[in-house]
Amino acid sequence: MNSVLTLPADDVSGLTDEHLALRSRIRDELDRCVIPHADEWEARGFVSRQGWRALGSAGLLEFGHDGEDFLSSAVFLEELGRTGYAGIRAAVGVHAYMALSYLLLFGTAEQQEAYVPAARRGERIAALAISEENAGSDLRHLGTRAEPVGELGYRVTGRKCHIANGSQADFFVVLARTGEERGGRGLSGASLVIVDADSPGVSRTPRPMLGWHSADVCDVEFSDVAVPADRLLGRRDKALMHLMRGLDFERLAAGLLAVGGVAHCLELLNRFVRDHQVKDAPLAANQAVRHRIAELDSDLALVRNYAYHAAWLHSRGRLDTRVASILKLKATELAVAAAQTLVQYQGARGYRDEAAAARLHRDAIAGTIAAGASELLRDLIFEMG
Ligand SMILES: Cc1cc2nc3c(=O)[nH]c(=O)nc-3n(C[C@H](O)[C@H](O)[C@H](O)COP(=O)(O)OP(=O)(O)OC[C@H]3O[C@@H](n4cnc5c(N)ncnc54)[C@H](O)[C@@H]3O)c2cc1C
Repeated sequence: MNSVLTLPADDVSGLTDEHLALRSRIRDELDRCVIPHADEWEARGFVSRQGWRALGSAGLLEFGHDGEDFLSSAVFLEELGRTGYAGIRAAVGVHAYMALSYLLLFGTAEQQEAYVPAARRGERIAALAISEENAGSDLRHLGTRAEPVGELGYRVTGRKCHIANGSQADFFVVLARTGEERGGRGLSGASLVIVDADSPGVSRTPRPMLGWHSADVCDVEFSDVAVPADRLLGRRDKALMHLMRGLDFERLAAGLLAVGGVAHCLELLNRFVRDHQVKDAPLAANQAVRHRIAELDSDLALVRNYAYHAAWLHSRGRLDTRVASILKLKATELAVAAAQTLVQYQGARGYRDEAAAARLHRDAIAGTIAAGASELLRDLIFEMG
């Protein structure tokens, strides 16, 4: 089991003393609510209900999504990443940021009242159901349909894949086709709908992944599920517009989470190379080792500052796809490089199935696929350059 580690000596610019005090409080709360239970949640494959409620009671699920308040979220997301459990950070990130953002951005007052307060208390868990077997990076082949049924609402049918919080979610924000596919480069004729998980016709099948074990990844089937008309989220047939905003926000959150993950990994690495002896000297006695860690430390310093720059832009309503994509790409790929180095320098002990290093390595790979694969992000960055 890990413990949450010490504050960095040099915090990023743009944060106030209040943010630093908040960072310290968040660490204490995560140390209390997450760390003692993390291994059990990893083994079970999901965060317990009690865990969600503890996070809610500690006020950790209610940091702001926009304006100055988002800087508190940035601190929280980094600290959540720094716990070293990417499955938990993904579960919480999807619940409190990725799924909820669509309700906060596009929901009516009634929809927000019905879902947001309970989600912030950790009493109702949210999931975001966008991806399908044939609709991941390219959503034009979306197969799930929400057929309009007069004034009554919609009947939703389709199968969603790789859905975090899948078995435990109380509601899903679902992408479904409501109109005709018009061809072209973008997704057309699709909408977002909110589906309560206890609606007849919803079934979930856990699909454990290589990593992110406590993220509760499932396939979710919707078989002719009746969804009232007032559960349409945002504008009908205009999901593409909503997704473009939501995905930038998702990548910002994913980048901040990954930055925390890298910091945790480097703390383990720095400690290990100073402690572990090979040929009667600490590993850190080798220049090659010291230089490798210096490279990773330098990359983290750059990416971390860029992450807070992106958070600052978002707090002023100025985050764009290019900045969000650069952050997510660089932070998640650095996480893979750092975890690979940790396993390598720890030797066989880092490659054991139960080793923290092995978990970090498994988990880091998911970060480069979920919320936009690295290649897709490179395409976006090139197109917007
Ligand atoms: C652990 C995990 C959790 C997830 N959680 C959720 C969730 O909660 N909700 C949800 O809706 N989805 C979720 N996803 C799905 C995720 O968003 C998709 O995996 C992602 O969008 C990529 O889609 P895909 O896996 O279908 O890959 P595909 O789109 O089929 O792409 C396969 C691979 O092709 C390569 N590739 C893609 N585009 C390009 C390109 N332009 N150029 C070159 N190569 C390219 C990439 O290497 C990519 O990994 C999750 C995924 C993972 C791994």
